[in-house]
Amino acid sequence: MKVFVPDLIIEEISTIDLDKLRKRNISGLLIDIDNTIVPWGETKIQKGLKTWVKDAKEQGFVVCLVSNALKNRAEELGAILEVPVVGRAMKPMKRAFLKGLRMLDLPPQEVAFVGDQVLTDIFGANRLNLYSILVNPLSTNELGITKLVRKLETKILKHFAKKGLVNAELLHMRGKGE
Ligand SMILES: [Mg+2]
Repeated sequence: MKVFVPDLIIEEISTIDLDKLRKRNISGLLIDIDNTIVPWGETKIQKGLKTWVKDAKEQGFVVCLVSNALKNRAEELGAILEVPVVGRAMKPMKRAFLKGLRMLDLPPQEVAFVGDQVLTDIFGANRLNLYSILVNPLSTNELGITKLVRKLETKILKHFAKKGLVNAELLHMRGKGE
C-alpha cells in the first residue's frame, strides 16, 4: 500500500515550496495537466500558475507536463507555459513517467511529480521513486469513471489518515464541492 502514499500533500500546485524541494536536491518537476494545472477539460491557465511556472524555471527547475490528455491539447498547454510535454502518457504505466524523466534528463531522485490522482499520478511516481506530491483536484467536473476512482481514492486516503501516514486535513480539502 505504501506505493499509494504521497510524499507531500498540498492544496494547490502554486503553494509548493520550491526552496524545500531544492533542499531535497530536487530540480525537476513533472506535472499532470487535468485538475492539477487547469480544471478538467479546460485550457485556460490561471495567471498565478503561469507566474509560478515561470518562477520555477527562473530558479533553475526544469519542467515537463505529463498528461493522459490528447496530444494536441497537452501541447497547447505546454506552449502557453513554454515547457515540453508528454501527451497521451497512459499513466500509471511506467513508460509515461520514464518519458518525462528523459525529457528532463534527470535521475528519478532529483524529480518531483505533481498530480491530483492517487491511483495514477502518485502510484506511478512512487513506483519510480520520484518525490510524489498530491494536490487537491481543481474541479469535480470529471468523467463518470473518474468519479468512481475518486471514491476509491477517498477510501484509500482515509485509511492512510487513520494510520497517520497522511495529514487528515487533506480529507476535508478533497471533500470540497461534492
Ligand atoms: Mg489529473
